[in-house]
Amino acid sequence: MCGGLAGTLNCRRRAVNRVRSTAVFYNVVVKSYDVIIVGGGIIGLSLAIALRKGGARVLVVEKGEPGREASHAAAGMLVDCGVETPAALQTLATASARMYREFVHELENESGVRVDLRSEGTILFSSTRQGQRPADVAGDALQNPRKLEPALAPTRNDAAIYLKERSVDPRALVKAALKTAKHREVDFSSGDPAASVDLADGRVIGVSAAKTSFSAPIVVNCAGAWSGQLGPARFPTRPVRGQMLAVAAPSRTLLRHVVRAPEIYLVPRSDGRILIGATVEEAGFDKRTDPDTIHRLHQAAVGLIPELAQARILEDWAGLRPGTPDDLPILGATSVAGYYVATGHFRDGILLAPVTAQLMAQVVMGGKIDYDISAFSVARFATRAA
Ligand SMILES: Cc1cc2nc3c(=O)[nH]c(=O)nc-3n(C[C@H](O)[C@H](O)[C@H](O)COP(=O)(O)OP(=O)(O)OC[C@H]3O[C@@H](n4cnc5c(N)ncnc54)[C@H](O)[C@@H]3O)c2cc1C
Repeated sequence: MCGGLAGTLNCRRRAVNRVRSTAVFYNVVVKSYDVIIVGGGIIGLSLAIALRKGGARVLVVEKGEPGREASHAAAGMLVDCGVETPAALQTLATASARMYREFVHELENESGVRVDLRSEGTILFSSTRQGQRPADVAGDALQNPRKLEPALAPTRNDAAIYLKERSVDPRALVKAALKTAKHREVDFSSGDPAASVDLADGRVIGVSAAKTSFSAPIVVNCAGAWSGQLGPARFPTRPVRGQMLAVAAPSRTLLRHVVRAPEIYLVPRSDGRILIGATVEEAGFDKRTDPDTIHRLHQAAVGLIPELAQARILEDWAGLRPGTPDDLPILGATSVAGYYVATGHFRDGILLAPVTAQLMAQVVMGGKIDYDISAFSVARFATRAA
């Protein structure tokens, strides 16, 4: 019997025991798991925690240090307002935004790390990613945005909307998720990239990295912008570079809300930093920043908040968003038995981490799935090509 969570795990353990003799023959397996997650970004870490809660023995294989790629680079806006979110993603975006307080509460409690979840809201100026006007957004029209944010430039008196969106510090979030995962006895293999997903009789038996191989009947590809590099199923992911900078605000009260304008966004942190972002560039796997671009971003920020002209630049950086051809994530099973994917979260992976973890744990464990994720299946790309 393979019914229920425990049954599913037992069945899969029996499956891996059946194939283990093959792996031992090659003398490479060091330890076996129920699930191996490739990629220790916010998606892989959140999923690892969710799977551990279900009783699975989980290994995260990370090519570098967990949480140092896109999840480290993100601004942390939890954008679910319906204007910048693709329509097909709206249900998951709304669900994930609703889950955030509880998600953060749990990670903070278990890790002792504060993640700076802020609920001051967002001031949204004019058109956005998809070209819609603020009138399309369910929020409160602001006749005078400077009443909410007196530091805004007096010239900045175009139409704006107030949105009840939250923001979070993704670096702190990842740190909290990593500590929580370790606390829950998720194992980590860091600094050694997964080179292949191994198969026997057409189904997954584990993952091989350069130095070590690990056995498991289930592998989930959470490798972000690199997901497409790992077989056996092919995912059409690509890196989309985002450059950003952080400045020290002249005072902690200079800016309270996230401010989004067509040319730029500003995200205040409770410690007095203000993040200024971001570019959206096709630059391959190049993570360098360009001084002229960082200067342009800074100048655009000064156009919104003149007092930022004197603000000290603390840091600039670039990260690689996991993009897909239709800007939607890829979630669910693949055509290879035991091989799953959770990638392609593009500009919304911080927002979507809680709901992705919940849904993917349900998919992997064979339970009831709370939302229809068929629109995010990797099969949609095969259909298009046909
Ligand atoms: C500048 C910028 C601003 C952003 N702002 C926001 C925002 O405000 N709100 C929001 O919701 N989202 C935002 N995002 C998007 C968000 O950061 C991503 O969608 C999210 O971090 C994706 O998480 P991930 O875990 O899939 O990828 P990553 O964090 O990139 O993690 C993937 C991991 O897989 C590892 N890996 C890759 N290949 C292998 C391999 N072969 N073996 C082992 N490990 C491997 C990598 O080292 C990496 O650690 C932003 C992104 C950028 C770049």
